[in-house]
Amino acid sequence: MAPMQSAELLASIALFVVAIYIIVRQVKAIRAEQELRETNQFATEIIQNAGEGIVVYDRNLRYRVWNRFMEELTGRAADEVMGRFAPEIFPHIREQHVDELLRRALAGEMVSSPDVHYWVPGTDRSGWVSAIYRPHFDSRGKIAGVIGLIRDITERKAAEQQIEYQAYHDALTGLANRRLFQEHLTLALALAQRRSRLVAVLFLDLDHFKLVNDSLGHSIGDALLRQVANRLKASVREGDTVARVGGDEFTIVLQELAKREDAAVVAQKVLRMISEPVDVTGHRLYVTTSIGITLYPDDGDDAETLLKNADNAMYRAKAEGRNMYQMATQELNRSTQDRMTLESGLHVAIERGEFELFYQPQIDVRTMRIIGMEALLRWHHPERGLILPADFIGVAEERGFIVVIGDWVLRTACRQARLFRDRGMPNFRVAVNISARQFRDQSLVQTIETALAESGVHPSCLELEITESVAMENVELTLQILTTLRKTGISVAIDDFGTGHSSLSYLKRFPIDALKIDRAFVEDLPDRVEDAAIVRSVIQLAHGLNLRVVAEGVETKAQLDFLKGHDCREMQGHYFSIPLPASEFTTLLES
Ligand code: C2E
Ligand code: MG
Ligand code: MG
Repeated sequence: MAPMQSAELLASIALFVVAIYIIVRQVKAIRAEQELRETNQFATEIIQNAGEGIVVYDRNLRYRVWNRFMEELTGRAADEVMGRFAPEIFPHIREQHVDELLRRALAGEMVSSPDVHYWVPGTDRSGWVSAIYRPHFDSRGKIAGVIGLIRDITERKAAEQQIEYQAYHDALTGLANRRLFQEHLTLALALAQRRSRLVAVLFLDLDHFKLVNDSLGHSIGDALLRQVANRLKASVREGDTVARVGGDEFTIVLQELAKREDAAVVAQKVLRMISEPVDVTGHRLYVTTSIGITLYPDDGDDAETLLKNADNAMYRAKAEGRNMYQMATQELNRSTQDRMTLESGLHVAIERGEFELFYQPQIDVRTMRIIGMEALLRWHHPERGLILPADFIGVAEERGFIVVIGDWVLRTACRQARLFRDRGMPNFRVAVNISARQFRDQSLVQTIETALAESGVHPSCLELEITESVAMENVELTLQILTTLRKTGISVAIDDFGTGHSSLSYLKRFPIDALKIDRAFVEDLPDRVEDAAIVRSVIQLAHGLNLRVVAEGVETKAQLDFLKGHDCREMQGHYFSIPLPASEFTTLLES
């Protein structure tokens, strides 16, 4: 081959190689571009379809990437958020300090957020997310923004809350459980300590609940417990905690009590509400509960002590007969408890024959002879011994027992008067005390007439004593009642005169027969000049109104002399005799 030819050949080969190279490079470039496009598209697709939220912020916390997951999570399309300042769109970013995390990422840190509660303004969307933020670099290696990976943890959060709810609540009744109760109590105590307030803890245990469970089955037992829970919630205030702490055990915290007695008032309300019959799937059930009460600060200053003492008090309530409350503090207990025993005792006192009338003679001091007697009620309590009327008349009055008791008193007193009359004292008078409620009771006249008829006592030998305060409470009504009573032929005395506020104009109009000067004015006679003056004027007033006057509580010869000197003719008091049982009174009459 000629050299020229080979040089040409070489040149053309080189050209060819170059051409190939250029083509290959060209093709490569085209391919690379295509690949890049493909990669880009691929990346975009991954970002868009990721099962997590992917967000990119620029250095000014404006959105640069917002994937589909985020669109679905928030309901905000990418167009709505792109280029906008993040905290402006989602207020939780600032309020829950997410922006601080983003700034730390901008400073080069990789940070993970705590659980964050988000909500979308103007919609009802909200939930929980957690996120990881890391800086995002540009081609020159400088931080250009933040990439955030966002995870939706709403479901996990709900499950956690459910678990937490279960950990703090009783599944059957939805009430707080022991744990939550203890937390609430501790909180209430801390508050009460700061504000020097009272807190009460009530510990309840249903009476004989086991019987219901055993005889009717657990599903009825459960239904009963649910109803009890509802009633307990209904009997306390909003802020008070009711908890179920055991099978049939419940506890209540009462906050912000004004006074100690209020705990007893609530306990009584609870007792009342629980004892209402409960209808459970065709069964009418009657359930009661026993309650123990402790008070902060009296009975302890921590939750544990208060609960323990309330539990003990509850056991005492069980021992005392159930369906009642007991206070841990004995002293407080005694006063409220006394009342309870009195109340329940009064129910049965008549049929058990525990009442007795004592009689105190009334003397005509001119002849020094017994002209009558006042019947005074005594209660022989099986546990507490002899109880005086001052300690139970009030309760009997309040609870409405007084009418029945008063009825018994009237009949018994009349029967006794009849026995004395039969012993040769034709005008022997018996005085019977009448309480406010009895006085206003419609059946009073009927009761009196029955007592008189049964005993055969003449109406003029029966005197009713009503206190001055009762007589003056509603003067028009008093006038009416007295007028009706007068028609039966009995007499009426105003008792404890001087202690109430008599209206003299009414006193004048009342059809009455006698005034009884209260013991308080007689006590310091004759030395105390004020009392002496009052007694003198009461005697004069009585004479002026043409009424008899009886002085009560005469204990000394000096009192007797003073009263007699001012023309008080009838007297009663220890100087002559204390109130006596009927048999002893008979002996006195005979001597
Ligand atoms: P009252 O009707 O003013 O009865 C007089 C009270 O003074 C009686 O007290 C009597 O025992 C007491 N007393 C009598 N003489 C003397 C004395 O010389 N010195 C002192 N220190 N006390 C004397 P009691 O029996 O405890 O009765 C208290 C109140 O209970 C009575 O006051 C009366 O209001 C009421 N009460 C008594 N029995 C009945 C009743 O059957 N029904 C009603 N509703 N109330 C009754
Ligand atoms: Mg009296
Ligand atoms: Mg009196």
